[in-house]
Amino acid sequence: MLYEIYKKDIPNFLDYLISKNLEVIAPVNEGVVRFEKIRSGKDVTLDYINTAESPKEYFLPDGDNLFIFDKKRLEYESLKPIEKTRVIFGMRPCDANALNILDRVLLEKPIDNNYAERRKKTIIIAIECKRTGDNCFCYVFGTDTVKEGVDLVFKPYGKKYIVEVLSKKGEKLLDKTFFKKSKLKSYKVKRRFKKKIDLKGIKSKLPELYNSDKWKPIAEKCIACAACTGVCPTCYCFEHKDYEHSNSIIRKRYWSSCLLASFSRVAGNHVIRKSMESRVKQFVYHKLFYFEKRYGVDLCVGCGRCISSCPVDIDFFEFIDKLAVKKR
Ligand code: SF4
Ligand code: SF4
Repeated sequence: MLYEIYKKDIPNFLDYLISKNLEVIAPVNEGVVRFEKIRSGKDVTLDYINTAESPKEYFLPDGDNLFIFDKKRLEYESLKPIEKTRVIFGMRPCDANALNILDRVLLEKPIDNNYAERRKKTIIIAIECKRTGDNCFCYVFGTDTVKEGVDLVFKPYGKKYIVEVLSKKGEKLLDKTFFKKSKLKSYKVKRRFKKKIDLKGIKSKLPELYNSDKWKPIAEKCIACAACTGVCPTCYCFEHKDYEHSNSIIRKRYWSSCLLASFSRVAGNHVIRKSMESRVKQFVYHKLFYFEKRYGVDLCVGCGRCISSCPVDIDFFEFIDKLAVKKR
């Protein structure tokens, strides 16, 4: 069963969710479009291709409080990551699929409790794209639609959205004031993409490309700013920091990046991946080779943010695509 809602009714629908004591997070245009907690449905924009940053910060925040250690009692206590049930409205399918990928890592044993709690208490309303950006290549991974891990999927259809229900929690939000049953039995949004990448070709060539001397120029160009991994919805590398207070110690988790030398520093101050070239290769091979070997999917959803955010115009995917073509 499909439902419909008029786009003009979205602000009122979001106000309705807020009135139900739900925290609502949605795309807001502040010069760049970002996910923000909103006070009114009027704050939201529906005119965006994707948010500049991924919504991963709502599940895996940078600077997450993990636990507090009591120095006197010699006991530790977990810190509650989230109180209220919340709704994230307007998540793109690439980002929703990225959460499904993160689930494989963070919900396998030992479960990451903070992530699990946030995932459990978050209702996700995804909106499929009609327009695509110059750097989008989600179609390559089949992540331009989402079939699980979210509650409702809105699909643009003229002045309306066709609504697909993927969970009971989603179904409960379908208030009759805003949603009507659709006459359509099925509906698929048509999209066009400018960016072409031969993922199959790349993957077949990756093993033999590892020792190619062609990595050098791109490694020399990279300034290791970690902007790409920060905005990436699937990157989850982290580091811990402990903060000591008079009676306690708080452990926090911060985002890190395989492109930083500090990330591979181990005991004895040894840095395993000293060269930028080895770190660039780690990024590419983790995304398209190592992760799939372990989890059966790629660690990329083709959102294109790493390309848009790079201050020195690096596009790892175009680079590796060209490198693989030469080897074909
Ligand atoms: S690697 Fe780049 S394109 Fe792939 S998910 Fe991360 S930011 Fe998006
Ligand atoms: S954003 Fe560009 S320069 Fe910065 S670490 Fe990523 S690839 Fe390197």
